[in-house]
Amino acid sequence: MNPLEKPDPRGFDETQWRRALEQLQQPYYRAKQIREWLVAKRVCDPQQMTNLPKQLRNTLATQWWWAPAEIVTRREDPLDGTVKWLLRLADGETVETVLMRYKSGNTVCVSSQVGCHIGCRFCASSLHGLVRNCSAAEMIEQVLTADRELARQGERVDRVVVMGSGEPFENYTETMRFVDLLIDPDGMGIGQRHVTVSTSGMVPRIYDFAERHLQVRLAISLHAPNDAIRTQLVPLNRKWPIDKVLEAAQAYVEETHRRVSFEYAMIHGVNDAPEHAEELAERIKDLRCLVNLIPLNEVPERGMVGSTPQAIHAFQEKLQERGIVCTVRRSLGRTIDAACGQLRAGFVSLPTPVHTAL
Ligand code: SAH
Repeated sequence: MNPLEKPDPRGFDETQWRRALEQLQQPYYRAKQIREWLVAKRVCDPQQMTNLPKQLRNTLATQWWWAPAEIVTRREDPLDGTVKWLLRLADGETVETVLMRYKSGNTVCVSSQVGCHIGCRFCASSLHGLVRNCSAAEMIEQVLTADRELARQGERVDRVVVMGSGEPFENYTETMRFVDLLIDPDGMGIGQRHVTVSTSGMVPRIYDFAERHLQVRLAISLHAPNDAIRTQLVPLNRKWPIDKVLEAAQAYVEETHRRVSFEYAMIHGVNDAPEHAEELAERIKDLRCLVNLIPLNEVPERGMVGSTPQAIHAFQEKLQERGIVCTVRRSLGRTIDAACGQLRAGFVSLPTPVHTAL
């Protein structure tokens, strides 16, 4: 995606490393050296890679793409330390990346596409439509941006969630390459269980993902107990209704022996009544799953109102009474427009395109 289409070593898999080094007539161990600089030492200027021969450094500097993403905006929430970046990619497009400080570790939320066209009614990511997919290298660069900042504080990235803008399963190949690079012990070395991919419910890709038998977590954006409500909120439900989504979720559980997570944004007067909790519990009671209730981040353009804390609590209790594991997501970054796509939506000023139906 860089202007000259130069190879970006941040996105190389084994085959690409071999091929790239063969072309340069270099021994394969250079891959390990360069990767160490890029990832462990957070250096992205080949001239500083002092264990490489000078001539190779010059060649790499001109032939490969090294520039880090440019930080257009950096906002930090003074209350909880959440940091949100708007990053400019090599072709000028922008994506958002968020760093959240949970007790369980430093979590980076990565965007998988520039914009989105799934069109979920409460989400800011689709406000300006889809521009393009992110490459695996661009997703790695988002993680590295957070990691560079953490390194200055003596910390590192512990967890990665693909829950920023975009539908990762629509960009399946690059997202899987990204996940492979994240969990590769010679790459970023993040534990599989510390990586989560979230989908709005692209059923065929859920089966593909299950068949990879990874221990990577799968989150599915359910948001509703029935098709009538879900179709209103997630238009993709017309193509893959709840039953189909739940069958695919079951396949993930069977193939991976892992619990599947359902995300459920709590929207006042839409999906947050006690009877919705009961209906949901009935539908998922035989699935090994967890429901994560998300207090709605209100996006002014969307005109939807978040549920009250009381309604969220009552919903959680109802699910728990029925034996469903249910957590409430802590809301971070409230003061910095941290909902998916909000920062970019405020930055991009294009007319809203018509949503492409999938
Ligand atoms: N496209 C993927 C991943 C991105 S969003 C998906 O839909 O799963 C990650 C989660 O945040 C999704 O569950 C999404 O529905 C939810 N989300 C988006 N905007 C939100 C908002 N304004 N408030 C609360 N949750 C939101």
